[in-house]
Amino acid sequence: MSDEFDKNIYDNETDGNGTGESNTPNPPVKNDKSSNNPGEREEVCSMCRRTESQVKRMFKLHPGLCICDDCMQKTMDTLSGGGSLSILGLAPKNPNGSDGSSNDDQNGIENINIKANLGDLSNFSSFLFGDLPAVPMNQRLKKKKPEPKKDDIQAKFDIKDLKPPHVIKAELDDYVVGQEHAKKVMSVAVYNHYKRVFDKNEDGIELEKSNMLMIGPTGCGKTYMVKTLAKLLNVPLAIADATSLTEAGYIGDDVESVLSKLLVAADNDVERAEKGIVFIDEIDKLAKKHTTNSRDVSGESVQQGLLKLLEGAEVEVPVGAMSKNAMVPMTTMDTTNILFICGGAFPELDKIIKQRLNKTSACGFLGELSDKYDDDKNIAGKVELSDLREFGMIPEFLGRLPVVFALDGLKQEDMVRILTQPRNAILKQYKKLLSMDEVALEFEEGALSAIAEKALKRDTGARALRAIIEEIMLDIMYEIPKDDSIGKVVITEAYVANHGAPQIILRSGAN
Ligand code: ADP
Repeated sequence: MSDEFDKNIYDNETDGNGTGESNTPNPPVKNDKSSNNPGEREEVCSMCRRTESQVKRMFKLHPGLCICDDCMQKTMDTLSGGGSLSILGLAPKNPNGSDGSSNDDQNGIENINIKANLGDLSNFSSFLFGDLPAVPMNQRLKKKKPEPKKDDIQAKFDIKDLKPPHVIKAELDDYVVGQEHAKKVMSVAVYNHYKRVFDKNEDGIELEKSNMLMIGPTGCGKTYMVKTLAKLLNVPLAIADATSLTEAGYIGDDVESVLSKLLVAADNDVERAEKGIVFIDEIDKLAKKHTTNSRDVSGESVQQGLLKLLEGAEVEVPVGAMSKNAMVPMTTMDTTNILFICGGAFPELDKIIKQRLNKTSACGFLGELSDKYDDDKNIAGKVELSDLREFGMIPEFLGRLPVVFALDGLKQEDMVRILTQPRNAILKQYKKLLSMDEVALEFEEGALSAIAEKALKRDTGARALRAIIEEIMLDIMYEIPKDDSIGKVVITEAYVANHGAPQIILRSGAN
């Protein structure tokens, strides 16, 4: 095979981020040098795209270019008109294993170096298979670890290692401001979920999944809470957007694409991915459309498609790509132990809840005023399944999300706390940046309230805080490094309100 061919394959495997992106539009996997070690990845047949564990033998022609014995056999049959691998000295292994092949795999899969067997026939293999594309690294699964012994399983799957809900909540408190109820519900649900994962079901009592549905206005911390949770539990997390999902066969992503994302997040390690978390955002956009007669391929049908994933099923998932096609290897993932969390803002749901509450309370002796709930800020907390059904979610879908809870809209004092309290609060980040220039940064109390007030007006929750702080800090971050004499900057309320300047304090000794 030509040197150039070798180089292409080599480049494909080590193209900076190891993704082989030059050949494929697929999303990149993490830039983790160790995980791109070809020895840790399963080989994939360049012709039929089956993986090493799915075939009997794999012939390694070159790095990244492998042919399974079935495809090799078919090629030989075609060439020799019914001949077999034996013409190349690659006959099936005899009982004492002396077929001249090197057996280098612990899993019992034979990897035969065709060069060794073919000798100077290697040119012949390049003639036959030279045009086949090498399989990029991001489409290769990690090799399964050898089955652990029973004792190891016991040691690994110990419920005692699981953090109890109060510890999970305390850790969430370090990052997420407010949302006390949501944090409590999530901690308990996650604790129960992983108990279920570890349960060996010896007593016949099957624990059901505790998939969750979060309802809360935009920017109140839904995604942030899930991200933080996954980080604390050290499990892979995939964040998917329900708006991009469509029924299979239509333009858009199939529901299985959420599992492909999880597989990428788990660095193509199926076992790890099968215990991960999938967060599907904007789930309210899948509501059944009441006003259309045509097929609802991006709404109700997607809810239907998600049912089997939520419940727990064995699903064929493309590796290293978002859609299935003949060129992408597939693997089977079991979703039984994957925790699904759905989140959405559910606009107008408050009206449905109010209507129901008013209907039940307006009649009879104890009838209440119909505007009683108009000013109730936490009306979403009173949500019932019937409200979500009326909103357009189908009952089967809701039935698979047993843990339903609402997040509160953020108030001004929450915004101030978000600015200052979490472990990586925005202000702490700016203080750190300026401290690298040996300049102290301070915010007046009034300035913090003014920033929070501005953010509330933008109606995008805590997301607005970052944008406002960026605007305020731009000039300061630009000017400060110019002047070594500056020792401290104080952001004043007047500066935030655009009618003043920040207070600049010079270093002692500077003039
Ligand atoms: P959404 O509810 O729309 O998913 P996000 O979770 O993406 O909102 O929140 C946007 C950003 O706002 C987060 O990255 C986080 O920094 C901040 N944030 C939102 N809510 C909170 C909160 N309760 N505590 C701390 N930070 C928060």
